[in-house]
Amino acid sequence: MTSRLNRLAVALLATALATLGVTVANPSPASAAMTICYNTSQAGSYAGTANQAASIWNNATVNLTLSANCGSNLRIYQITGGGSYAVRTSLGNGRVYIDTQQAAQYSPLRIMTHEIGHILGLPDNYNGNCSLLMSGGSAGTSCTNPYPSTAEANRVSNLFAGTFSATDRSADIFRDSWPSALTSVS
Ligand SMILES: [Zn+2]
Repeated sequence: MTSRLNRLAVALLATALATLGVTVANPSPASAAMTICYNTSQAGSYAGTANQAASIWNNATVNLTLSANCGSNLRIYQITGGGSYAVRTSLGNGRVYIDTQQAAQYSPLRIMTHEIGHILGLPDNYNGNCSLLMSGGSAGTSCTNPYPSTAEANRVSNLFAGTFSATDRSADIFRDSWPSALTSVS
Protein backbone atom coordinates (compact mmCIF):
# COMPACT_ATOMS: atom_id res chain seq x y z
CA MET A 1 0.00 0.00 0.00
CA THR A 2 2.70 2.40 1.09
CA SER A 3 4.87 1.63 -1.90
CA ARG A 4 1.90 2.01 -4.24
CA LEU A 5 1.22 5.40 -2.72
CA ASN A 6 4.87 6.31 -3.05
CA ARG A 7 4.88 5.27 -6.70
CA LEU A 8 1.76 7.30 -7.26
CA ALA A 9 3.35 10.30 -5.55
CA VAL A 10 6.51 9.93 -7.63
CA ALA A 11 4.47 9.65 -10.81
CA LEU A 12 2.47 12.74 -9.92
CA LEU A 13 5.62 14.65 -9.04
CA ALA A 14 7.27 13.62 -12.31
CA THR A 15 4.20 14.72 -14.22
CA ALA A 16 4.16 18.03 -12.41
CA LEU A 17 7.84 18.60 -13.08
CA ALA A 18 7.46 17.57 -16.71
CA THR A 19 4.73 20.16 -17.00
CA LEU A 20 7.18 22.71 -15.69
CA GLY A 21 9.75 21.55 -18.20
CA VAL A 22 11.99 20.00 -15.57
CA THR A 23 13.74 16.79 -16.50
CA VAL A 24 14.05 14.30 -13.68
CA ALA A 25 17.29 12.40 -13.96
CA ASN A 26 17.34 8.70 -13.23
CA PRO A 27 18.78 7.82 -9.86
CA SER A 28 22.54 7.82 -10.19
CA PRO A 29 24.21 4.44 -10.75
CA ALA A 30 26.20 2.62 -8.11
CA SER A 31 29.15 4.98 -8.33
CA ALA A 32 28.59 7.97 -6.09
CA ALA A 33 30.24 11.29 -6.68
CA MET A 34 33.54 11.57 -4.88
CA THR A 35 33.76 14.22 -2.19
CA ILE A 36 37.22 15.76 -2.10
CA CYS A 37 37.70 17.35 1.29
CA TYR A 38 40.29 20.08 1.05
CA ASN A 39 42.03 21.56 4.04
CA THR A 40 43.12 25.20 4.07
CA SER A 41 44.51 25.33 7.61
CA GLN A 42 48.00 25.87 6.14
CA ALA A 43 46.96 27.83 3.08
CA GLY A 44 47.72 31.16 4.74
CA SER A 45 46.47 34.08 2.71
CA TYR A 46 45.27 31.71 -0.05
CA ALA A 47 42.45 30.02 1.85
CA GLY A 48 39.88 32.24 0.16
CA THR A 49 41.52 31.60 -3.20
CA ALA A 50 41.20 27.88 -2.57
CA ASN A 51 37.48 28.29 -1.88
CA GLN A 52 37.05 30.23 -5.13
CA ALA A 53 38.95 27.58 -7.06
CA ALA A 54 36.83 24.83 -5.51
CA SER A 55 33.67 26.62 -6.64
CA ILE A 56 35.04 26.93 -10.16
CA TRP A 57 35.78 23.21 -10.36
CA ASN A 58 32.45 22.27 -8.77
CA ASN A 59 30.56 24.40 -11.28
CA ALA A 60 32.50 23.04 -14.25
CA THR A 61 32.38 19.32 -13.48
CA VAL A 62 30.18 16.42 -12.42
CA ASN A 63 30.99 13.26 -10.42
CA LEU A 64 33.07 15.09 -7.82
CA THR A 65 32.56 17.76 -5.19
CA LEU A 66 35.29 19.77 -3.54
CA SER A 67 34.25 20.55 0.02
CA ALA A 68 36.07 22.72 2.56
CA ASN A 69 37.59 21.46 5.79
CA CYS A 70 35.64 18.21 6.08
CA GLY A 71 38.81 16.13 5.90
CA SER A 72 42.17 16.09 4.20
CA ASN A 73 42.04 14.51 0.77
CA LEU A 74 43.72 17.67 -0.41
CA ARG A 75 45.92 19.88 1.73
CA ILE A 76 46.82 23.34 0.50
CA TYR A 77 49.99 25.08 1.62
CA GLN A 78 51.36 28.57 1.26
CA ILE A 79 55.11 28.54 0.61
CA THR A 80 57.66 31.16 -0.36
CA GLY A 81 60.02 30.42 -3.24
CA GLY A 82 60.62 27.31 -5.26
CA GLY A 83 57.54 27.64 -7.45
CA SER A 84 53.99 26.42 -7.07
CA TYR A 85 53.31 22.74 -7.56
CA ALA A 86 51.00 19.84 -6.91
CA VAL A 87 51.67 16.37 -5.59
CA ARG A 88 48.91 13.94 -6.52
CA THR A 89 49.07 10.70 -4.56
CA SER A 90 45.96 9.32 -6.21
CA LEU A 91 43.06 10.77 -8.15
CA GLY A 92 41.50 13.46 -5.96
CA ASN A 93 44.14 13.15 -3.25
CA GLY A 94 47.33 15.06 -2.66
CA ARG A 95 48.87 18.40 -1.79
CA VAL A 96 49.02 21.77 -3.48
CA TYR A 97 51.73 24.34 -2.77
CA ILE A 98 51.26 27.98 -3.72
CA ASP A 99 54.43 30.07 -3.94
CA THR A 100 53.83 33.63 -2.72
CA GLN A 101 56.54 34.98 -5.05
CA GLN A 102 54.93 33.39 -8.08
CA ALA A 103 51.46 34.47 -6.96
CA ALA A 104 52.72 38.05 -6.88
CA GLN A 105 53.47 37.79 -10.62
CA TYR A 106 50.67 35.56 -11.85
CA SER A 107 47.00 35.37 -10.94
CA PRO A 108 46.83 33.45 -7.63
CA LEU A 109 43.41 32.07 -8.58
CA ARG A 110 44.67 30.76 -11.92
CA ILE A 111 47.61 29.12 -10.16
CA MET A 112 45.26 27.57 -7.58
CA THR A 113 42.73 26.19 -10.07
CA HIS A 114 45.61 24.90 -12.23
CA GLU A 115 47.33 23.08 -9.37
CA ILE A 116 44.03 21.61 -8.20
CA GLY A 117 43.57 20.51 -11.81
CA HIS A 118 46.62 18.29 -11.36
CA ILE A 119 45.02 16.74 -8.25
CA LEU A 120 41.93 16.09 -10.40
CA GLY A 121 44.02 14.21 -12.95
CA LEU A 122 45.05 16.75 -15.55
CA PRO A 123 48.60 17.03 -16.92
CA ASP A 124 50.31 20.23 -17.95
CA ASN A 125 49.79 21.53 -21.47
CA TYR A 126 52.39 24.27 -21.97
CA ASN A 127 51.08 25.68 -25.23
CA GLY A 128 50.72 29.32 -24.22
CA ASN A 129 46.94 29.29 -24.78
CA CYS A 130 45.25 31.40 -22.10
CA SER A 131 41.87 29.76 -22.74
CA LEU A 132 43.32 26.58 -21.27
CA LEU A 133 43.86 26.28 -17.54
CA MET A 134 46.59 23.68 -17.85
CA SER A 135 48.75 25.93 -20.03
CA GLY A 136 49.67 27.49 -16.68
CA GLY A 137 52.41 30.09 -16.68
CA SER A 138 53.19 29.49 -20.36
CA ALA A 139 50.32 31.88 -21.16
CA GLY A 140 52.20 34.70 -19.46
CA THR A 141 51.59 36.92 -16.47
CA SER A 142 48.83 38.82 -18.28
CA CYS A 143 46.70 35.66 -18.47
CA THR A 144 44.39 35.58 -15.46
CA ASN A 145 41.85 33.02 -16.76
CA PRO A 146 41.01 30.74 -13.81
CA TYR A 147 38.51 28.54 -15.68
CA PRO A 148 39.13 25.12 -17.20
CA SER A 149 38.15 24.77 -20.84
CA THR A 150 35.17 22.56 -21.61
CA ALA A 151 37.53 19.81 -22.72
CA GLU A 152 39.59 20.08 -19.53
CA ALA A 153 36.47 20.03 -17.34
CA ASN A 154 34.97 17.11 -19.24
CA ARG A 155 38.16 15.12 -18.88
CA VAL A 156 37.99 15.57 -15.11
CA SER A 157 34.32 14.57 -15.05
CA ASN A 158 35.17 11.45 -17.02
CA LEU A 159 38.08 10.58 -14.76
CA PHE A 160 35.70 10.67 -11.79
CA ALA A 161 32.88 8.86 -13.57
CA GLY A 162 33.57 5.71 -11.59
CA THR A 163 34.80 3.70 -14.53
CA PHE A 164 38.32 3.72 -13.16
CA SER A 165 39.31 0.80 -10.98
CA ALA A 166 40.81 1.29 -7.54
CA THR A 167 44.18 0.42 -9.06
CA ASP A 168 43.85 3.09 -11.71
CA ARG A 169 42.88 5.61 -9.10
CA SER A 170 45.84 4.91 -6.85
CA ALA A 171 48.58 4.23 -9.38
CA ASP A 172 49.09 7.74 -10.58
CA ILE A 173 51.53 9.38 -8.22
CA PHE A 174 52.44 12.58 -9.90
CA ARG A 175 54.25 15.80 -9.26
CA ASP A 176 54.12 18.84 -11.45
CA SER A 177 54.78 22.53 -11.21
CA TRP A 178 53.61 25.84 -12.54
CA PRO A 179 55.77 26.56 -15.59
CA SER A 180 57.25 30.03 -15.24
CA ALA A 181 57.50 30.74 -18.96
CA LEU A 182 57.14 28.97 -22.27
CA THR A 183 60.81 29.47 -23.07
CA SER A 184 61.86 27.75 -19.85
CA VAL A 185 60.13 24.52 -20.84
CA SER A 186 62.26 22.22 -22.93
ZN1 LIG B 1 51.08 22.42 -13.84
